[in-house]
Amino acid sequence: MDAIVIGSGIAGAVAARCMAEEQGKRVLVLEKKEHIGGNCYDEKDAHGILIHKYGPHIFHTSDEEVYAWLSRFTRWYAFGHEVVARVGNELIPVPFNLNTLRQVYGEEKGSVLERKLVEAFGEGARVPVLKLRQHPDPEIQDIAEYVYQNIFLRYTMKQWGQKPEDIDPAVTGRVPVVISYDNRYFGDKYQGMPLDGFTPMFEKILDHPGITVKTGTEAREVLDFSLENGSVLLEGEAFRGPVIYTGPVDELFDNCYGRLPYRSLRFDFEHYDRPDYQGHSVVNYTVSEDFTRITEFKYLTGQQAPDTTIVKEYPFAYTGADGEIPYYAIQNPENQALYERYAALGGKIKNLYLLGRLAEYKYYNIDAMAARALKTARSLG
Ligand code: UDP
Repeated sequence: MDAIVIGSGIAGAVAARCMAEEQGKRVLVLEKKEHIGGNCYDEKDAHGILIHKYGPHIFHTSDEEVYAWLSRFTRWYAFGHEVVARVGNELIPVPFNLNTLRQVYGEEKGSVLERKLVEAFGEGARVPVLKLRQHPDPEIQDIAEYVYQNIFLRYTMKQWGQKPEDIDPAVTGRVPVVISYDNRYFGDKYQGMPLDGFTPMFEKILDHPGITVKTGTEAREVLDFSLENGSVLLEGEAFRGPVIYTGPVDELFDNCYGRLPYRSLRFDFEHYDRPDYQGHSVVNYTVSEDFTRITEFKYLTGQQAPDTTIVKEYPFAYTGADGEIPYYAIQNPENQALYERYAALGGKIKNLYLLGRLAEYKYYNIDAMAARALKTARSLG
């Protein structure tokens, strides 16, 4: 073997393919789960409905290179993902946009406020709610307050256990107020789902004569990371090729400085013997319930069926207990400082590369992750 990749999610799979294909490396991919694809993994449930086992994943990008690269491994079910929030008896478009404005304030007041927003920010602008709240105009502040109270406050409390103003502003900035009539959740040029699902796309990415995948294999069953010698041992022998690690970096070093905080999720799947549950791919519960959102998979994947499966997401603080999965890094200065200590340990092993949401302690989207994996792999050529 010339290179080892730990993890077969988007980071690991893209890096492995790139090294095998562009550099002729023989790449060993070690995956602790029984399947490839990391948290993008999808499969048919007992009723034949294609579900995302680890929560809804929707591809969107404006990066031409990433789009072209992934398009070698899948065709796309191109659709503009839309989300609504349940507020009382109403379903309102999220991100909050000019349609939402008119629904909430009525046509007459809505059109006055629309003019104000366009004047203040320009048509098509995407304004984070925390920025909107700082605008001096009281009527704009009133809109900001509505958005804050009805879309962000309770959802964010559920998702992060903290108020919007106490978490990294980039997080709530992912879902800005949009000064347009576009109801789509994402603003990117390309958006959709792999036509046959994510798992077949990962199978094709990893299907290369240079790649060997071992699922159900804990990396540390076969690898030793020795800080003393600054080396990696593969089954007892020094391994000098690149080792890309995409798991949680604290666990790689036995949490020696204490655990890095992550948010986790419990997914409750429900199946209904009727064709439709909620008429939308995703409904966010922004003012009620203990779950954050309900995804109805048929509307994401375009699958036709007489019955339907949904999933509810219940966030909680990751503890590292067996069976828990870390999904989101909780980015703040204190956690970043702890992360840096682990990254410095990683730096002692010269051929070790940390890549991905968990290993880099970052909030990557699929496309940004693919771009980063390609860049990292190419730097190893
Ligand atoms: N958010 C919110 N209400 C919403 C949608 C999003 O408060 O209706 C906030 C929340 O803090 C969430 C963040 O915006 O964690 C980012 O949302 P996104 O949908 O991008 O989260 P993901 O799908 O990555 O979990």
